Amino acid sequence: MMLTEFTIAGARAALRDKEISAAELTLAHLEAIADLNPRLNAFITVTDEQAALQAARADKAIAAGQARPLTGIPLAIKDLFCTQGVRTTAGSRILENFVPPYESTVTARLLHDGAVFLGKANLDEFAMGSSNMTSAFGPVENPWKRSGGSNAVLVPGGSSGGSASAVSARLAMGATGTDTGGSIRQPAAFCGLAGIKPTYGRCSRWGVVAFASSLDQPGPFARTVQDCAILLGSMAGFDPKDSTSIDLAVPDFEAACRRGVRGLKIGVPREYRADGMPAEIERLWQQGLDWLRDAGAEIVDVSLPHTKYGLATYYIVAPAEASSNLARYDGVRFGLRADGQDLTELYEATRAEGFGEEVKRRILIGTYVLSAGYYDAYYLRAQKVRALILKDFTDAFATVDALLTPTAPSAAFAQGEKMNDPVAMYLNDVFTVPASMAGVPAMSVPAGLDSQGLPLGLQVIGRPYDEETVFAVSQVIEDSAGFSGKPALRAGVPA
Ligand code: GLN
Repeated sequence: MMLTEFTIAGARAALRDKEISAAELTLAHLEAIADLNPRLNAFITVTDEQAALQAARADKAIAAGQARPLTGIPLAIKDLFCTQGVRTTAGSRILENFVPPYESTVTARLLHDGAVFLGKANLDEFAMGSSNMTSAFGPVENPWKRSGGSNAVLVPGGSSGGSASAVSARLAMGATGTDTGGSIRQPAAFCGLAGIKPTYGRCSRWGVVAFASSLDQPGPFARTVQDCAILLGSMAGFDPKDSTSIDLAVPDFEAACRRGVRGLKIGVPREYRADGMPAEIERLWQQGLDWLRDAGAEIVDVSLPHTKYGLATYYIVAPAEASSNLARYDGVRFGLRADGQDLTELYEATRAEGFGEEVKRRILIGTYVLSAGYYDAYYLRAQKVRALILKDFTDAFATVDALLTPTAPSAAFAQGEKMNDPVAMYLNDVFTVPASMAGVPAMSVPAGLDSQGLPLGLQVIGRPYDEETVFAVSQVIEDSAGFSGKPALRAGVPA
């Protein structure tokens, strides 16, 4: 088998049995990056030398019988995670030359468990976007193509578009992402991958460049549900350095994948039957419910009545927090500094030059909704509605164990589409945002292809801290779907 085709679980076994070495596994991925990254632009920074060193260390550990859960597994790291001594840009000019003196907790855990880091994955600037078109380092290409020889360049989704493109094209076996309103789940769906946003607080945010702190949550991408379980097992865990981190033991997520769904109640939120949803997405959703019923689950209609306010409240809360978080980029402490006659001018010139259009739009919205005259009308109101959205989920989970919905209202779209209509772009998140607002875990699983041959995802939403049920349900969907599609652009396939 080609080294770049291994799953993480498969490579872990092959490494332990000494059928393959970490050095050759890493090299195969670095070669694939050299081949395809000039086109896909999935990585902003490739750390070849560091990866080779880590792989050599992994081989020694394996030889000494000291393999850890991820020893020798090559990963891509979203360039929002601070990595000690390795440039971390957040996809922004303003951090173009920022080299953190510390390692984020999540990446430190992955390294501790033996992972090899191939490099830093491209993303929408400060994780704001749904298409990876807002990166200061250029757009990322989705390795999937519409069938029939279409040349349209598709977006990988966002904001973790580089992570998703890299794993889909076999440039990495798995990747980290962050999800504030859908940035793991939507790109996973667009690129035919599994991706989970865990419960808010399950993974530490320490050392992750902040977008909207009450929503941001790290999580993994991989090509299988089990691989996501393996990665999350290493990424998750209590961190005293993040005051919102939860002090709970990390369950055996891999074992949870094998639980099945017999006896579980799966809810279908009727408000997710959005007007104008493509018929094939509607059909896939029904198919997903049938698979779960066939596997022994009971399907129950539920209502999440405040779903319709999800997007509107998200686009108040997230920009409000962003405008506050981004105040630190003042040209004095981090990154870029533009000259000015006085301090105010220095701030203004730095921020005018350093931030892109979408980030400026969010800052404008955020400062507006937090301003003295409008705080009550927008921000405070949005916080109240957020509480109602959470209550919807709490009520639903009194009767069901998990919810099933589509991940996104469309398959991957072409670069340039929706670009001059921010509201159309924001609509991408209609199905992912409510779980973010409620802080509950949610996973996207590849479930089928649309009529143009592009992947579609289904979303499994679970109770707070119950990622185990999310994995169990997702595994049944993966097994039933038998999704075996591969993108047109991938390692080992001549372009
Ligand atoms: N697309 C959403 C936004 O632009 C979500 C992004 C994210 O989850 N980081 O805010």
